[in-house]
Amino acid sequence: MLPTDQGTQITGHAGNNYVYIVRDQKVLVDLKGGGPVVPRADEVAPLGLDASDGYRIGTRDGTACYAFSVPAGTEAPEGMSFTGLRRSFGVLKPDDYAMAVRAVGTLNWDRTCRFCSACGAKLTRLADIFAKQCDGCGFTMFPKISPAVIVAVERGSTLLLARASRFAENLYSVLAGFAEPGESLEDTVRREIGEEVGIEVKNIRYFGSQPWPYPDSLMIGFTAEWASGEIAIDGDEISDARWFTVEDMPLIPDKVSIARALIDEFIRKQAMGDGL
Ligand SMILES: [Zn+2]
Repeated sequence: MLPTDQGTQITGHAGNNYVYIVRDQKVLVDLKGGGPVVPRADEVAPLGLDASDGYRIGTRDGTACYAFSVPAGTEAPEGMSFTGLRRSFGVLKPDDYAMAVRAVGTLNWDRTCRFCSACGAKLTRLADIFAKQCDGCGFTMFPKISPAVIVAVERGSTLLLARASRFAENLYSVLAGFAEPGESLEDTVRREIGEEVGIEVKNIRYFGSQPWPYPDSLMIGFTAEWASGEIAIDGDEISDARWFTVEDMPLIPDKVSIARALIDEFIRKQAMGDGL
């Protein structure tokens, strides 16, 4: 893990470093050159933003990247804008977008992990590892990451999609749920699918993963095949679930999500004829 450069300031390092300034989970981007880009330190430092205690979050093109938070209500400087991650997807370059996700996730953790969960005393950031330590009992708290599975279940030429009660009208997606203590991710897949739609699945295979910093999820995608049972929804968390063919797809999530990548992969396989 990278050193976190304890308490680094915007003005305190080389001018060409990338700085990810985060307000309300939105990242400051510079619009003056045409497309949005994340600004460099020498551009941001003179602007007098109320940002301190940054984190070094990585390196892009050999250049260090730092994340800073600014208070709610901070206005974007002229020619710049605070932009949410959803709107940034496909607009920022992929490595820039990935670092923006890392910035938001890091600062979410920094904001929400301030006191020891064992004794309640104040935490202090460590300089050499990405963690905080309790001033009282010495307990070390690493950034919290909550793993959740997300699963595309196929049955012949159909895909299982469900409508969560909280979704927009007619929006359907693949099923997802958080891992619980003591479970393998495959256990989580079997439990969540069983709980939410009452079926059993087989041939569970890893697909890919996506950090989702709202506030700290790591979505781990799987594909699986229907094994037995008929759909029986709980009617609470899930309001509808059905097997959809490529031809009768409902409204599905936008491209930013791994849910969409799973659905697109199903559509691609059907088009290739190897999903049958
Ligand atoms: Zn403690």
